[in-house]
Amino acid sequence: MTQSATLHTLLDAAKVWHSALPALSNFVAWPQDLTYAERPAHALPHIAHLTTEPGEASAVSQPLRDTIIAAAPYLEWRHTYTEEEVGGDFLNRFGWFELAGPDGHFLTNETRMTVGFWGANLHYDWHQHEPEELYSVVSGHGQFLVEGQDTLALGPEGTRLHLSNQPHALTTTDAPILTFVLWRGAGLADPPRMST
Ligand code: ZN
Repeated sequence: MTQSATLHTLLDAAKVWHSALPALSNFVAWPQDLTYAERPAHALPHIAHLTTEPGEASAVSQPLRDTIIAAAPYLEWRHTYTEEEVGGDFLNRFGWFELAGPDGHFLTNETRMTVGFWGANLHYDWHQHEPEELYSVVSGHGQFLVEGQDTLALGPEGTRLHLSNQPHALTTTDAPILTFVLWRGAGLADPPRMST
């Protein structure tokens, strides 16, 4: 398949996922202004981990998980963080891409949809950002830490809300985690920053 066909198949799978989980569809409506943008694929080392051990999915999440894996060679994977900030092991087993948003494979100003993967036994330290955020777990599981709230252990179909500028963190234990994440509100184009 071409990159464009692959990305459109992935967008379709994400739309099915968005409508299957009320938490997602209630958080932000599916954007109406999506346009495809040609973006070069960018591979990162975590693809090998994602492909061989993506973590267990549910019946509802498996189609999206498997579509992400099939699309992995065509995606513009990013790190954003430096080795100084998170360490070399983290960067070898972590990667994310923007499916839709101000700078994504599909352009929209209505929301930002990203997909992130972390290998087992990684700690994504405290960080924050202006837009409100809703995480959903596609496969694997992890511990979601939010300042001022109880830590939640979430697996496939689990969701967690982060308010504007509310510090949060993510820890994986014996499994990797693959997440689909929505943003809404001001600052969609701004990167997260580590909390001080
Ligand atoms: Zn966040």
